[in-house]
Amino acid sequence: MARIKFLGTAGARYVVARQLRASGGVYVEDAGTRLLLDPGPGTLVYMAREKLRPEKLHGLIVTHVHLDHSADLNILVDAMTEGGLKRRGKVFLPREGLYGENAILLPYLRPYTEEIQILVPQQEYRLGDLVFRTSVRHHHPAETYGIILELSGKRVGFVVDTLYFPGLLESYRGCQILILNVVRYKPHPSPQVQHLCVANVKEILEKLRPEKAVLTHFGMTMIRANPKQVAQKLSRETGVPVTAAWDGMELEI
Ligand SMILES: [Zn+2]
Repeated sequence: MARIKFLGTAGARYVVARQLRASGGVYVEDAGTRLLLDPGPGTLVYMAREKLRPEKLHGLIVTHVHLDHSADLNILVDAMTEGGLKRRGKVFLPREGLYGENAILLPYLRPYTEEIQILVPQQEYRLGDLVFRTSVRHHHPAETYGIILELSGKRVGFVVDTLYFPGLLESYRGCQILILNVVRYKPHPSPQVQHLCVANVKEILEKLRPEKAVLTHFGMTMIRANPKQVAQKLSRETGVPVTAAWDGMELEI
């Protein structure tokens, strides 16, 4: 059995800045392999609260460099490697996170890790016995990839930050469980704000028909709309059971 724990469910500037929801990313454990996906601000603190030990992590995945997905990356690398005493753990991140002016992983920490792997589109990766794939490149201001994990024989797709586009669907087809970052209740008027809204999620669920869907990474318009009610309405409309994640929610697979 695998488990997924939502250490935080905040998305976008305001909800993260005010900590209206926590922003700790997602902890995944499967057959002794432990990883943290998108270590946003406070991940280290939320892990301590949940008695999850960072030095027991095998890897960290950062889907893109935005702060709500990566702020605690460096401290977690330090904690995972016990300050470099033990060279261990893998870090997966897009090229942009390693090179260039938006690089987020501090150079002095890099040799502490066992390996750094660059995420590219539609590629298979391994962390211990755990296998995952990247999606096509998402439409988002930063270089962003969704993650499809194989957990207990199920395919679990993390549809992270993106504008909706039809090419997105192919990457997540066949996922039994979809976890979607739904920042917006309605589409944003500005084309620069590239996030999913509820209507996009409805379309994705109708087209892909997973066994189950989880909404997370809520911005202010979603918090105001009440994510639980949004999830119930989506369940009724699509026939797919939809849950709105809460901070600390655990999913067994
Ligand atoms: Zn983002």
